[in-house]
Amino acid sequence: MVPERALEAFDALAGGGVTAATKAAGAFLACFAQERDAHGLLSELEQIADAGQVVDYQPISGRRARVLEPALTGEVKAAVMIRGQRYLHPPQFLHSLAQAVRARGGRIIEDADVTALQHGSSDVSVVRRSGEQDRYDTVVVATGAALPALTAGFGVRHPVQAGRGYSFSVPVERMPAGPLYFPRQRVACTPLGDRLRVAGMMEFRRPGDALDPRRITAVVDAVRPFLTGVRLDERRDEWVGSRPCTADGLPLVGRTAAPRVFVAGGHGMWGVVLGPITGQLLAQSVVKGEVPAELAPFDPLR
Ligand SMILES: Cc1cc2nc3c(=O)[nH]c(=O)nc-3n(C[C@H](O)[C@H](O)[C@H](O)COP(=O)(O)OP(=O)(O)OC[C@H]3O[C@@H](n4cnc5c(N)ncnc54)[C@H](O)[C@@H]3O)c2cc1C
Repeated sequence: MVPERALEAFDALAGGGVTAATKAAGAFLACFAQERDAHGLLSELEQIADAGQVVDYQPISGRRARVLEPALTGEVKAAVMIRGQRYLHPPQFLHSLAQAVRARGGRIIEDADVTALQHGSSDVSVVRRSGEQDRYDTVVVATGAALPALTAGFGVRHPVQAGRGYSFSVPVERMPAGPLYFPRQRVACTPLGDRLRVAGMMEFRRPGDALDPRRITAVVDAVRPFLTGVRLDERRDEWVGSRPCTADGLPLVGRTAAPRVFVAGGHGMWGVVLGPITGQLLAQSVVKGEVPAELAPFDPLR
């Protein structure tokens, strides 16, 4: 199943030279202001287990959560501890991935704004805004929330919309041992080097619109009651990014109506964790011409 293989795919990347490893999260804590608020997450976890996946979790009291994680305040009245999770440092990971691609002879062209793809009988021309054109035997379009602009002409009709999220980093008096998640507030806090990365919010606006500082304030206000020793007013790295959201919540991965044009996108809130397994499965389609059964639900022509 795809979720189970998702983490293994990170190990395959590490084996292939991506040195920025994922870190095991000793205890991933989902924290709640009231015990009954945990019921939704617990029911989701039960459904995951009923579907045959291994998921190791345990509801715990707020007091126990605070013993495990002193950065939590008394406002946390209940938590769910989930084991077997991992996290990574996104900028370091991306940098390391690019290095590994280059080390294998791959060429990365940065700041290339692609305006069109022209499908020929034996190759695809990739046209840039600068007017330059390159020809490739196969193209995988992975342009996030902008996916439809390049793929609509190849039969991909499924809408993709930007669900924008915000993040920033803050100093902490004592770094939490692992990620802290506040499902009701939809905010996640993850150790990022010597700072804590705080991320949340779902805003439907155009991907290129400016960062709205009110959204950052809303994220800060949502988690402030639950955290102590986290200096939320000393923010750096304030950022807004677009999650590529599809109408049915499923990614778009596979071949388009044109035999040499593939897509990989629409992963919404899960594009980092599902990126490596997406690449692995799609490579099978591109290189061997076999569509793995796991990709059937994600057919971009659905
Ligand atoms: C605040 C926040 C927190 C998140 N947390 C998590 C998390 O904990 N776990 C998780 O799995 N996911 C998380 N996500 C979601 C994840 O970031 C996305 O699902 C993922 O980045 C999508 O990857 P992508 O490659 O499809 O698109 P993107 O990451 O958006 O990359 C698309 C790239 O294509 C480029 N591009 C677009 N159009 C063109 C063009 N015409 N020509 C050339 N280049 C183009 C863009 O500049 C961009 O670099 C989070 C997202 C946000 C915003």
